[in-house]
Amino acid sequence: MKMNNDYLIRTVEMDCPVCNKVHSLEQRKRLTQSIVKDEVVDYEETYFLCPSSNEEENEFVPAGIMDENLLRARDAYRKKKGLLTSDEIMAIRSYYGLAQSDFSFLLGWGEITVTRYETKTIQDETYDNMMRMVRENPMFALECVDKNRDKFNPEKYSRIRKNIASKVEGEGNLYLKKQEICSLYVKYPEETELNGFKQLDIDKVASVIGYFSLYVKNLYKVKLMKLLWYADSIFFRRYGKSMTGLVYRHMPLGALPIACDEIILLPMVSVVEEMINDVICYRIQPNQEINISDFSLEELNVLQTVATKFKDFKSKEIIDYMHKEKVYSDTLPNHIIPYSLTKPLNELK
Ligand SMILES: [Zn+2]
Repeated sequence: MKMNNDYLIRTVEMDCPVCNKVHSLEQRKRLTQSIVKDEVVDYEETYFLCPSSNEEENEFVPAGIMDENLLRARDAYRKKKGLLTSDEIMAIRSYYGLAQSDFSFLLGWGEITVTRYETKTIQDETYDNMMRMVRENPMFALECVDKNRDKFNPEKYSRIRKNIASKVEGEGNLYLKKQEICSLYVKYPEETELNGFKQLDIDKVASVIGYFSLYVKNLYKVKLMKLLWYADSIFFRRYGKSMTGLVYRHMPLGALPIACDEIILLPMVSVVEEMINDVICYRIQPNQEINISDFSLEELNVLQTVATKFKDFKSKEIIDYMHKEKVYSDTLPNHIIPYSLTKPLNELK
């Protein structure tokens, strides 16, 4: 959607400070620039316009709206610098059911620190990292609340601890799973032809696996691994980057991503063991809805191409299909298949 640069939100009957009369005013929004901490940022400001005045000074910003504009400018700065926005900070404490002062105490800070971050002050990187850690790793949140136990009264301490503990049960080991996958990728920190010039994006991997589990019936682990490789390779060929940053190895059954056993344990899917002809197979089942907005249109297009092409292929058929890829025969067993070789890939129809 292309946004108009200056547009009407609504008209409102109010006391007009331009002409000192009560009449109908336009509340408008426009894209503008501001300087925050020596940095020029683009943000959207709200203002009021008196349509009946011919004077040059025919617009104004009431005090409350001024604060909102400033908050938006500061959030634009935060986004530019990769810091949490005020909404994101609020989302973190809401996730654990914490009031602003609780979140401050939990981190060992002064009572109003978080309130200031949500309303006016921009946090520095150290404080930003601590808030992020609390969100990403519920075990860290638990350590924090225990360390700062004396800041809370006993009832409050036990209520907060219980909230966090429930998140540890639900999500705590997701953090460990992600760490485990990261540890298998420490050798690939740079963007090279091995990862398709993209650093591993674990959340994207989880979303792509979720997508295939929903749109490809009878999905087993072996087949899923091939679908991932085709999605990454086709995306690379079209856009010069892989979709997920996974690194693939030439294995007897085709391309296999590093950490193939760990990535199927990410949320979005569950893995069910089945015996087929005396062989243990791992069926991949969706266990939650995927959020289509996690993908760009280009990504969706590639995923759809891959899912449509291979949806009726049995594992054996897709393995045979991949064995015929020139990329596959051009690499040695156990070696990494560089993305740069994907150019002569079979064109999917
Ligand atoms: Zn007026």
